Formats: sequence, C-alpha cells, structure tokens
Amino acid sequence: LPLPAPRRIKALAQDVVNKIAAGEIIVAPENALKELIENAVDAGSTSLEVVIKEGGLKLLQITDNGHGIDKEDLAILCERFTTSKLKAFEDLSSIGTYGFRGEALASISHIAHLSVTTRTKESSCAWRAQYSDGKFVSPKPGQNAEPKPIAGRGGTQITVEDLFYNVPSRRRAFRSASEEYAKILDMVARYAVHCAGVSFSCKKHGASTADISVPTAAGTLDRIRQIHKATVANELVTLNAENERWGFKCEGWISNANYSAKRTTLLLFINHRSVESSVIKKAIEQTYATFLPKGGRPFVYLSLDIEPARVDVNVHPTKREVHFLNEDEIIAIICDEIRNSLSKVDTSRSFMTQS
Ligand code: ADP
Ligand code: MG
Repeated sequence: LPLPAPRRIKALAQDVVNKIAAGEIIVAPENALKELIENAVDAGSTSLEVVIKEGGLKLLQITDNGHGIDKEDLAILCERFTTSKLKAFEDLSSIGTYGFRGEALASISHIAHLSVTTRTKESSCAWRAQYSDGKFVSPKPGQNAEPKPIAGRGGTQITVEDLFYNVPSRRRAFRSASEEYAKILDMVARYAVHCAGVSFSCKKHGASTADISVPTAAGTLDRIRQIHKATVANELVTLNAENERWGFKCEGWISNANYSAKRTTLLLFINHRSVESSVIKKAIEQTYATFLPKGGRPFVYLSLDIEPARVDVNVHPTKREVHFLNEDEIIAIICDEIRNSLSKVDTSRSFMTQS
C-alpha cells in the first residue's frame, strides 16, 4: 500500500486550546468549587456560603466576606496566568496561598457563564462583571460590557452557571445531579473541618435549610461533630507529630480502636490544600488493621505542614496530586504516632474494665 500523504500541521484555534486546557483543570463541578473555596480562603474570608443548583451544573455560587477585588483588576481577572499570588518562578517554592498560577477563573470562564460581584474596603460600592472566554461580556446583547456599580457588601460573590454548556461531550458524561451534589458536599465538608475561624454553609438553591453549616467560632472537633456526627466525634483523639530533619509538622484527629467503619474517611490537607494520597491512605489502613476488627476502617483528619521547598505542588493542573521529599520517612513517623496513640487507648480501656 502506498503511504498516505502527510497531513498539514495547523495550529488549533485559540478558543479550542483554551477549552481543552480548561477541561483539564475543571473535570466536574467539585473541581470548580474547590478552586473557588481556595480563592475565598486566600482572600482572608471568615464566612463562606455555597448555593448549588442541579449538582453545580446549573448553578454554583460562592459568597465570601474577604478582601474583595480592585475594580481596576476586573478586566484581567479571568485571563489565563493572571494572579496576585505569584510573581517569579522561584516563588513556587515558598508559596503560602492555595492558588498560584491564575488559571482557575480563566478556565471556568471558558466553559461556563461566570459573573463576579465584588467590593473592597476602599470602594464606595460593589462592582459586577460578567465574563466569557476570559473577557467581559455584556449581560444582554447591545448592553455595555464594562463592570457596573451596584449596592453590595464587602467581599466577593462568584456565580458559575451552565457549566460545560459548550462542551456537550463532557456535559453528557454526568449521570446524576445528586451524585455531583454529594461530591460537592464532600468537598465543602473537608474545608469546613479544616478552616478554623471560617464559617461555612452549603445548600441547594431555594432550600430553607443548609446541608452543611458550621459557625466561625467552632473548634475543629466541633466542626467534625457537626458534619460527621457524634458517633465519630466521640471516638476521636488528637494526633501530633513533627520532625525537624524531614521538615514537617502534623496535627489531626484520629479515631480510636472503638470506632470502626466500612470505609476509611481520610481528610488530608497538605499545606492547607485538600489532597488525596493513596500511599498515605494505605499506610494508615495497615496501621489500624491490627487494632480494628477485620474489615474495620478508621476516620482520620490530618493537616500536614511540610516546608514549601520540599513540596512539589506544580505536578498537575488539578493540584490534587502532591508529592514531597522523604514521603516514606514522614509517613512512617505519622503511622508510629498513630500506633502509639491506639495502644495507649487500649491500655486505658483494659485498665478501666479491670478496676
Ligand atoms: P490564582 O488563585 O491561582 O491566583 P485564580 O484564577 O483562582 O488564580 O484567581 C485569580 C486572581 O483573582 C487571584 O490571584 C485573586 O487576586 C483574585 N481572586 C479570585 N477569587 C477571589 C476572591 N474570592 N476574593 C478576592 N480575590 C479573588
Ligand atoms: Mg485560585
């Protein structure tokens, strides 16, 4: 057979490139929500309200009381790689805030209708702007696309509507709104446990009661009690571990040997970012295996602070996969501490039943 003639190579249109890039960062409504929560926390908010319609596919709205956004910055807010958090490549190794490369809002604006209402302390009013493909768009054809002054409180409200409206294949992939809502609740719950000093609420649009609600003043154990109920909270003990050589510090709440569930609940934060780690999960399950009945699984909330220079957060756009130096050594120290703690509880129990 004759070889086929080579096809000519052409650059993809910019809007196609942007859509593809956006789809890598925002795979489901929960990814968009995570970015928005992190932005709100970065802005110093002490209150965070989430409202959801159709599992976040129709509406995803988050209202915070943080420092707001300067009116002058609104024009570039949703452009790719615009950020207030990173200036030089070297900053990546000392980054203290959640977001760091200015991709989240840009991505969302390429695959949803995005509007922002924001007010800083210095501003005499709030400003509202709508975005599409990174740029201002007018709310209705023929209207002005510039930000509009409106009345509003200090802070920022981000409204994301019709997620994936222009990515039909992705849109079709969602089986049920309630499944997506469950994932959203799980994500809000994680940050609601972790972010001390911040109130959280999450509800469906039009619902009179919130599905998650924690007040600003609640301590970590109270937050767990509100969200995961007393059956979990009553069986928790604190965990602390640190090691200078490996440059880490770890705090958390872990279930004792009286608690046993069908599945592991692992709330894992590394440098205040919710992450998943199958390596850490497996190590924890193995540690608990000798203390729990067969098939029993623990509840573990861990907040791990690792020297930023030892963490590579730049591995994947979703920033979910975090890798750090000396993972094995750090995990071993944490699991030793868990083992200590579990055997302590064991002895006190047998002591109590003996006396
Ligand atoms: P990044 O968080 O990586 O900087 P984003 O696209 O998530 O990128 O946000 C871009 C910028 O918009 C942020 O750097 C921040 O200055 C501003 N911003 C976004 N959300 C908020 C918010 N809720 N409150 C205040 N500023 C915000
Ligand atoms: Mg961000």
